[in-house]
Amino acid sequence: MSTKIECTYCSGQGKDPFQLLSDISKCQVCSGLAVVEINAPFRPCVFCAGTGKNPLGARVPCIVCKGKGNNSITSEVVCAKCIGTGRAVDGLPCTSCKGIAYK
Ligand SMILES: [Zn+2]
Ligand SMILES: [Zn+2]
Ligand SMILES: [Zn+2]
Repeated sequence: MSTKIECTYCSGQGKDPFQLLSDISKCQVCSGLAVVEINAPFRPCVFCAGTGKNPLGARVPCIVCKGKGNNSITSEVVCAKCIGTGRAVDGLPCTSCKGIAYK
């Protein structure tokens, strides 16, 4: 079931948080709508700590949650490979759970 949540990438502002093109450019995650759709159940993205922003430094949406700050989950079982951190040893998303931390 899909539900609407506030876009965490732009904090519900509908504008690009980094104002890359101009100060009125639309948020690329929600297309300026300030909300995004996600399938329930979902959990806050551990990879970006729920910010929706790429924790690796680039001014782009998180590669795991695509900027939503949350991930749909299909299981409540914490990933045994990354022990719920969503990260592999190199800092990239865990290959087992794809950074979602549940598997
Ligand atoms: Zn947005
Ligand atoms: Zn994320
Ligand atoms: Zn994992």
